[in-house]
Amino acid sequence: MAEINKAPRGTNDVLPGESYKWQFVEQKLIDTAGLYGFKEIRVPVFEHTEVFVKNVGDTTDVVQKEMYTFLDKGDRSITLRPEFTAGVIRSVVEHSLTAAALPVKVCYCGGCYRYEKPQAGRLREFHQFGAECIGAASPAADAEMIALANQLLCDIGINKISLEINSIGCPVCRAEYHKALKEFFESKKTELCATCNERLERNPMRILDCKSPVCAEIAKDAPKVIDFLCDECQTHFDGVKAHLDAMGIAYKINPRIVRGLDYYTRTVFEFISGDIGAQATVCGGGRYDGLLEQMGGAKEPALGFAMGIERLLMVLESQNVEIPTPKTCDLYIAPMGEAATLKASVLCNTLRDEGFEALTDIVGRGLKAQMRYANKIGARFTLVLGESELENGKARLKCMENGEESEISLDNIADAIYEATFAQFAEQFEL
Ligand code: ATP
Ligand code: MG
Repeated sequence: MAEINKAPRGTNDVLPGESYKWQFVEQKLIDTAGLYGFKEIRVPVFEHTEVFVKNVGDTTDVVQKEMYTFLDKGDRSITLRPEFTAGVIRSVVEHSLTAAALPVKVCYCGGCYRYEKPQAGRLREFHQFGAECIGAASPAADAEMIALANQLLCDIGINKISLEINSIGCPVCRAEYHKALKEFFESKKTELCATCNERLERNPMRILDCKSPVCAEIAKDAPKVIDFLCDECQTHFDGVKAHLDAMGIAYKINPRIVRGLDYYTRTVFEFISGDIGAQATVCGGGRYDGLLEQMGGAKEPALGFAMGIERLLMVLESQNVEIPTPKTCDLYIAPMGEAATLKASVLCNTLRDEGFEALTDIVGRGLKAQMRYANKIGARFTLVLGESELENGKARLKCMENGEESEISLDNIADAIYEATFAQFAEQFEL
């Protein structure tokens, strides 16, 4: 029987003490993408299985081994999204988004599901942020996409990460390349793993992406796709490089990047970190010019990337990047007695209306225990509300950091907290 007091293997809880890191990263990603004109799109967590089988590609690891697929009660085959691009393009086509202004620029953030062997940086439920741009074929679009990914990584505080790019050509030049690859691997057939033997028949480029060390070693000497590019693909790739050079974005050409999904054409790229162990690719993306048409949409070129949030957070941690901690409770009101408890609730609401985090006792604790609680949660100010305070309409506000007290009027509690908070800041930053 499954252990019901444990999260399923390969999933993580984000606990309240950690969620601010996720909020920080996700907000930064969405804000920065906004500077490049990307607007958020939200698509379902599940799609018809065909959306992924047809578009991610049925020779990919994702489709062959990793999908969470099930029949729903209406006997439809449903799959939890292993990635976003196929679902996002399904949505773009369904809603004819390309009929409005081109390019269409969308970004997304959310959970993805792959049945993988869980290890550091490899989960069964993980989260991606990504962006897709539809309707732009020029090298400037590829460079802009890479620049966006680069800026996102910079903006969240990552200070060391390398960019590797490649071009995997178009269906025309890739046919020649497939032939050469097949010939090369044919002679090493017996040494390749069983899956790669299958790949050899159906999609030899997948062999270059095999995680087995033996296959990876053999693949080192394989022909390079970059030597097979047709003139148009070569010119396009040269254009991408020229743009990156002009923008001062450093990159390395890695002829072995082919990406795990079938829909890529021409430019592919990865951002790789040396700080997080074996699962080092933080962000991967590229151009997928044929995908829209393949999904029944307009014949529009497109490109995009996705980054794994868990891996991003691992890099931030290993590089000791400080994520701003959320502010704590502004005021804890400790009431004594029933009338004070009522008044404390009202005062808290007044403060919340003004944007302060105000808390009071909802447990029924004595004064001492309340103060211990206020300390534990890191309240900046506390205030005790007893009979005499209610009578006089005044109370003593205590600064928890330095123990200083001042008298404030309960009628103007929001102003008083505002002033006290400001004074504390002024002292802290020597304004
Ligand atoms: P890998 O080669 O590591 O399996 P992939 O090529 O399957 O990656 P993509 O489908 O391109 O990955 O997904 C984009 C990004 O999503 C990856 O670069 C990674 O940061 C993240 N990612 C992919 N699979 C997982 C996973 N199982 N757990 C955590 N993050 C993942
Ligand atoms: Mg994978």
